[in-house]
Amino acid sequence: MSLRGGIKTGRIGHAFLFAGPRGVGKTTTARIFAKSLNCSKGPTVQPCQQCQSCKEITLSRSIDVVEIDGASNRGIEEIRSLREGVKYAPLHGKYKVYIIDEVHSLTAEAFNALLKTLEEPPANVVFIFATTNPTKVPATILSRCQRFMFKRLSIKEISDRLTDIAAKEQIAITPEAIHYIAVRADGSIRDGESILEQLAAFVEGTIEEKNVFRLIGFLGYSYYHELLQVVISGELDKVLTMLNRGIEEGADPAEIYRGFTQYVRNMLLAKSHLPDELLDLNVDEIKAVRALPLTDALVIAYLEMCLDHEDNIKRSVNTRIALELLFSQLALLHDNPGNPRESKNRGKPVVDKVVPDPEKNDVKSVLIDLLQEKSPQLAGVIQKANVVMKGDIVDIHVENDFAHRQLHGKLPSMISALQKVMKKDVKVELHIDKKERKESDLVKNIKGLFDGEEVR
Ligand SMILES: [Zn+2]
Repeated sequence: MSLRGGIKTGRIGHAFLFAGPRGVGKTTTARIFAKSLNCSKGPTVQPCQQCQSCKEITLSRSIDVVEIDGASNRGIEEIRSLREGVKYAPLHGKYKVYIIDEVHSLTAEAFNALLKTLEEPPANVVFIFATTNPTKVPATILSRCQRFMFKRLSIKEISDRLTDIAAKEQIAITPEAIHYIAVRADGSIRDGESILEQLAAFVEGTIEEKNVFRLIGFLGYSYYHELLQVVISGELDKVLTMLNRGIEEGADPAEIYRGFTQYVRNMLLAKSHLPDELLDLNVDEIKAVRALPLTDALVIAYLEMCLDHEDNIKRSVNTRIALELLFSQLALLHDNPGNPRESKNRGKPVVDKVVPDPEKNDVKSVLIDLLQEKSPQLAGVIQKANVVMKGDIVDIHVENDFAHRQLHGKLPSMISALQKVMKKDVKVELHIDKKERKESDLVKNIKGLFDGEEVR
C-alpha cells in the first residue's frame, strides 16, 4: 500500500523504510509524512501547514517528531532513550514519529534494542528509517518495515522540480540555466536546490546559464562540441588552446575531463539512435553530434582512452598536464593526414595482408593495419613506437609507461593476430625507451603554449 493509501484508509503501519541514494528526498518525505499524520486536520494527505503541529515540524521543534541521525549517533544511548520515549503518548499530535536517518549505521546493540521496540510497537508510534544502504539493515528489522524505494531522479524530473521552486520563490531563471543545474545535480534534488539557492543569493536579475557555469565551474555543450572538433582536426596547438580556454572560463581540469567523457558517451548513445529522451542533449545537439565525422569504432576508442586516463587525471598532482596528455593522444588518433598506409589499406580485410619481410622491417605497418579498425588508439601507440623484428621476436620500443601499459593489456590478442597473418609463431616483447625524443618535445610544446605556467 502506498503512503497516501495508508493515510486515506487510516491503516498506518508502525515502521517504514525509505531506501535510495543520497539527496533524493527521503528525509523530506519522512517529514511530510509526519506532518500528514499529526496535522490537526489529519491524518491527511494534504497537511494544512498552518496548525501548531505542522508549524512545529517545519521548524524541527515538534516534541512528537524525533529525528535521529544514525550516522552520528551510532550508540545505544539514543535507542535507549527512544525506548523510554515511546512509552509516553504524543503531546500535541496523534502520533509519535521517530525518523532515523542513515539507520544502517547503527551498531548491532542499537539494532537489537530497536528490534525489541519494533516487536511490540506501542500504538500511535511510527518509525521511519531512511537509508542509502538497505543491504546493511538487519533482515529482522527489514521484515518489520513497509519498504519504499526512492529512485535517483532524471534530469527532467529535477528540472521540473526546480522550475516549480523558482516559480514559488519568485526566482527569475532561464530554462537553460535550470537544465544545467539539473545536469550537475546528478540525480540529487537536494544538490540541485542548493545550487539554485546559491545562485539566487548571488545573482542580480535573471539567472542565466553563464551564471551557472561560473558558480559550478561548468562548461556548456557548445564548448565540448568545439573541443571535439579541434580534436578531430588533429591539430595539437588548437586542442591545447581550447583546453586553456576552458580552464580560463573557470572549469578545473577534472571538470573538463568529466564533461568531455560525458559528451562522448552521449555521442555514442546518439549515434546508436536511442530514443532522444534517453539522452541528456537537446534536439539540435543530437543533430550536431550525429553529423560529426566519427565512426562508432572511433567513438568507442575515445571513450576507452578517456577511461584509461581516469586514474591519471584524478590522482595526478598535475591534473592539467594529465588532461593535456589525454587530449594530445586523442588528437594523435587523427594526426596522420597524407599517411599513405591509411588510405591504401583502409577497408581491406585482414586476411589480405601481405606477409611482411622481416628484413624490410615493416612488421610495424602490419601491426598498425591489424589494429587500425578495432583499436585506432593502439594503432596510434604503435605508430609512435619503434618496432623491430629479429627472427621470431618482435621488439616494440615505446616511449613511456602509459603506452607500455596500453599495449601490455592487448598483448595476447596482438600476438595471435600477428601469428595468423604471418603464419608462424612469433613472440612480442615490449620495451620502454625513455630516451625517446618525442615525449620531451611534447612537454616542451605544452609548456611553450602556456608560457611554462606552473599548475596545481
Ligand atoms: Zn496542519
